[in-house]
Amino acid sequence: MNGFREVAPGVYVLRYPVLDVNVGLVVGGEAAVVVDTLSTDAQAAELLTAARRVTDRPLLVVNTHHHFDHCFGNAVFAAQGAPIWGQEEAVALLRGRGPELRKRWCDEWSATEPELAAEMAAVVIAPPDRTVHVKSTVDLGGRAVELHHFGRGHTAGDLVVLVPDADAVLAGDLVEESGPPQFDDAYPLDWPDTLTALLGRLGAATAVVPGHGAVVDRRFVAAQHEQLAALDWLIREGDEGGAPAARVAAKSPFDLETSLVAVRRGYDQLTGRG
Ligand SMILES: [Zn+2]
Repeated sequence: MNGFREVAPGVYVLRYPVLDVNVGLVVGGEAAVVVDTLSTDAQAAELLTAARRVTDRPLLVVNTHHHFDHCFGNAVFAAQGAPIWGQEEAVALLRGRGPELRKRWCDEWSATEPELAAEMAAVVIAPPDRTVHVKSTVDLGGRAVELHHFGRGHTAGDLVVLVPDADAVLAGDLVEESGPPQFDDAYPLDWPDTLTALLGRLGAATAVVPGHGAVVDRRFVAAQHEQLAALDWLIREGDEGGAPAARVAAKSPFDLETSLVAVRRGYDQLTGRG
């Protein structure tokens, strides 16, 4: 595993090879924040070692959302005394449905990533113990980090981490670089507005760290917003015309499998089931 790489002053990213997940590290004068904790105890222990190579300051954690690859390493950091921040919907999902979700994800990955699935099954879920509603500011000592919930998108409880003094943003899976956006738990009719709110906080030179893949910029986020907005309209149009999901998905800017999930989620939203 490669270690953390500095992408903006005092803002580091570790691109973890399994599932190509990005973890952030923002170092302040008195504390440092780790953004997301990977999928298993073993991965989180590697992550902790990598963070300790960069800073010896007390750590706190932010989860960008409730998916396993972003928060199942929490227990390792909780054992170090790190407070963990999450958006209230993400916290509620992990508290209320944690074991059920863990089983769903283990079943999903057991064929393609058997080792990962086996390790995930042993994870003790540690939901965040600090809750964000719409916005919270965390003081790292001479450096403020803002945690924003701009609305629903990739999940019901996405958090974006803004580091204004470094012109950097950690966007979680609201922005995806190495694959298409992922819609399993998404709100495709809300996602475009959520990205519009995020875009309002991005300058031309802002470093944007996606949930997976290479660091991108405002132009990339604007282009992904365009694609999500196009899909949003296709879903609304398809629903009005009573079009089957497959016909709508075939016109989407994303691949067919991804788009089918998105259209079904969108239809569920429009019929009040989502
Ligand atoms: Zn996710």
